[in-house]
Amino acid sequence: MSPILDLTSALIRCRSLTPNDAGCQALIAARLERAGFTIEHLRFGEVDNLWATHGSGDPVLVFLGHTDVVPSGPEAEWASPPFEPTIRDGRLYGRGAADMKSGVAAMALALEDYVAAHPDHRGTLALLLTSDEEGPVNRDGVKRVVEEFRRRGQRIDFCVTGEPSSRERLGDIVRVGRRGSLSGRLRARGVQGHVAYPDKVRNPIHLAAPALAELAATRWDEGNAEFPPTSFQISIHSGTGALNVVPGELEVRFNFRYCTASSADDLQVRTEALLRKHGLDFALEWDLSGEPFLTHDGPLRRAVNAAVLEVCGIASQADTGGGTSDARFIAPLGAEVVELGPVNASIHKVDESVGLDELEVLPRLHQRIAELLLGG
Ligand SMILES: [Zn+2]
Repeated sequence: MSPILDLTSALIRCRSLTPNDAGCQALIAARLERAGFTIEHLRFGEVDNLWATHGSGDPVLVFLGHTDVVPSGPEAEWASPPFEPTIRDGRLYGRGAADMKSGVAAMALALEDYVAAHPDHRGTLALLLTSDEEGPVNRDGVKRVVEEFRRRGQRIDFCVTGEPSSRERLGDIVRVGRRGSLSGRLRARGVQGHVAYPDKVRNPIHLAAPALAELAATRWDEGNAEFPPTSFQISIHSGTGALNVVPGELEVRFNFRYCTASSADDLQVRTEALLRKHGLDFALEWDLSGEPFLTHDGPLRRAVNAAVLEVCGIASQADTGGGTSDARFIAPLGAEVVELGPVNASIHKVDESVGLDELEVLPRLHQRIAELLLGG
């Protein structure tokens, strides 16, 4: 077995369902400690976070990843058990094979190899791992670690997260930004009553419908060169379950996936003004789970593009699609952030897998990025 296949397989065997790290970080920490890294375990609540550093001063280059995985779903639907790494047809199968235990293993090996070859590199080389990326809350993972970094004055110049960014082959897509996510919970009040007595009731669905139609039809912005336009989606909960009762309240949840052409403040102000214009009696709660970010064409993007060209033999394409990731917490520290990892076609699915060909070159790809930024 090759070192990367060996380590990825060992990580897949750990049943690390969010927020349980299940021993993954201890495995990585032991290796990096032997390689000369300073190890710090930052446990917050139920979440394990690992911070391993080598060297000191600027620039600070951080490789970022998560050891937790999403549930496998019914194990019987898998061709081989999800937590038993299995090789078939040139691929390694198992939950987390692509998202993102191969990435975690590759980053750890790259860091080991890099400091062995360049023990006196300039700046700081670090690995940050969390066990709370896939869960719904994301409170005690990278978000909390970043709060700790702010308190300590720990800065980050460059951050590469090994999330599966590629579309058809390793390196074809480098994610350089993400849209923000802003959710709202609207409660529109009416008057509950019998459907046969319309003069005694005020149906909040009827009252809110024109406002919702206008919200759904609004073009919030035009997007920009880097991002598609902001999108808006609604889901509705109302009624008592009985057909003869007009509900007294309508609960509407909605979500903006917004680009850098809009701000969360602006979207909130516009939404509330629209609801008021329609005369609704309402209460509205907001939750901003991630602000958009964009890494401009600077030293990090140039190093990543050069590494992909050298190691994978292709020109990478910059992209800002997909959902949110932990990169959203790192970017506000002022860091340049990109996501680069294996093909994402199978992530979160039954029979998740990674190609052995991409797996074998992943560590070299990350190592080359370190060489280009920290010397070597
Ligand atoms: Zn992931």
